Amino acid sequence: MSGHVLTLNAGSSSLKLGLFTAEAEPGCLAEGHAERIGKDARIRLADGDGRELAARELGEAGATHADALDAALAMLEEHLPEARVEAVGHRVVHGGQDFDRPVRLDDRVLGALEALEPFAPLHQPHNLAGVRAARAAFPQAIQVACFDTAFHRHHPFVNDVFGLPRAFYERGVRRYGFHGLSYDYIAGELARAHPELHAGRVAVAHLGNGASICGIVQGRSVASTMGFTALDGLPMGTRVGQLDPGVVLHLIEQEGMSAAEISEMLYKRSGLLGLSGISNDMRTLEASEDPRAAEAIAYFTFRIRREIGAMAAAMAGLDGIVFTGGIGENSARVRREVCAPLEWLGVTLDEAANEAGARRIDAGGRVGVLAIPTDEERVIARAAAAALGAG
Ligand code: ADP
Repeated sequence: MSGHVLTLNAGSSSLKLGLFTAEAEPGCLAEGHAERIGKDARIRLADGDGRELAARELGEAGATHADALDAALAMLEEHLPEARVEAVGHRVVHGGQDFDRPVRLDDRVLGALEALEPFAPLHQPHNLAGVRAARAAFPQAIQVACFDTAFHRHHPFVNDVFGLPRAFYERGVRRYGFHGLSYDYIAGELARAHPELHAGRVAVAHLGNGASICGIVQGRSVASTMGFTALDGLPMGTRVGQLDPGVVLHLIEQEGMSAAEISEMLYKRSGLLGLSGISNDMRTLEASEDPRAAEAIAYFTFRIRREIGAMAAAMAGLDGIVFTGGIGENSARVRREVCAPLEWLGVTLDEAANEAGARRIDAGGRVGVLAIPTDEERVIARAAAAALGAG
């Protein structure tokens, strides 16, 4: 049997992994998902079609990402003993100014990525812990880093800069943009299945727990709602989204809040959760009768509309809108609330197609509207396979 690539995507308390064939278009053989690492960790392994192969409560044995990886690899070994991992592809949130494509990980690159930890304190340390664990587990395999920032690295200056004194830009205080692996996948899908949109100007809304919009022109990112960190732009499950920096000064000077308190509030207690006071989860909010839930959803969809308008201006036009991520793929209500008031922009919605969860959901208007499931793991697997020379 020819070789395989393993993909790793380490979040703050989760770890996703995928086993793929090492081909130019990798075939998915298995996917694993460990959740609640550090506290009641559990892990589930499924085959390439999502059918469960095994599930296990890890408890004490799942205290760290390395523990979870060990457990996941033991399950893989048990259920797919023929797997021969020749390359490991890692999701790394921040690639800084320099990395605009996947890169092979060695000590020098790992050092450069560690230096970026202060730019993405909630994600980067976990991503790199995954890298270290995988290097130990697969010392013979090639390790490849795939960055969420890379897809955005060639924005025009005006979409990359803040209006701060120039020295801060030179020091790296600029808009990086995130969710790049998801946007890369969507751009590939547009090229493959919707070439007329790929050739045009498309606003892609990645709406999951994290949420952002990317303006893509002819397959390349020209603007993102996310900025220096993954806090900016759209309100998210628990993150604030766009905020007047004067509010932060007010919180420090008048409310006496510390940097740590403000950070915790902006990242973990704001957004849909903060506004509703109920939940960060869109399904829970949609099912709620509480008017605060409806208001939180209304703010979320209003900000998405505003940013689609901004993207249309940044791209000098709009030919398509793509919804993706857990909310974008599944919530007919969010898609309707976003699209219905955008008729002036040429956006139409086929209600029946939207409710049915179809891929094409516009009613034949000037702007094509699509809902496309994203697949970040596949983008990582392609990069790892390419590093092995597949294709
Ligand atoms: P992450 O950013 O953690 O990968 P996902 O992309 O899985 O998250 O998105 C999670 C969000 O998707 C949650 O708010 C969840 O409620 C929402 N979601 C998932 N399925 C549905 C659905 N059928 N209807 C509405 N929202 C959904």
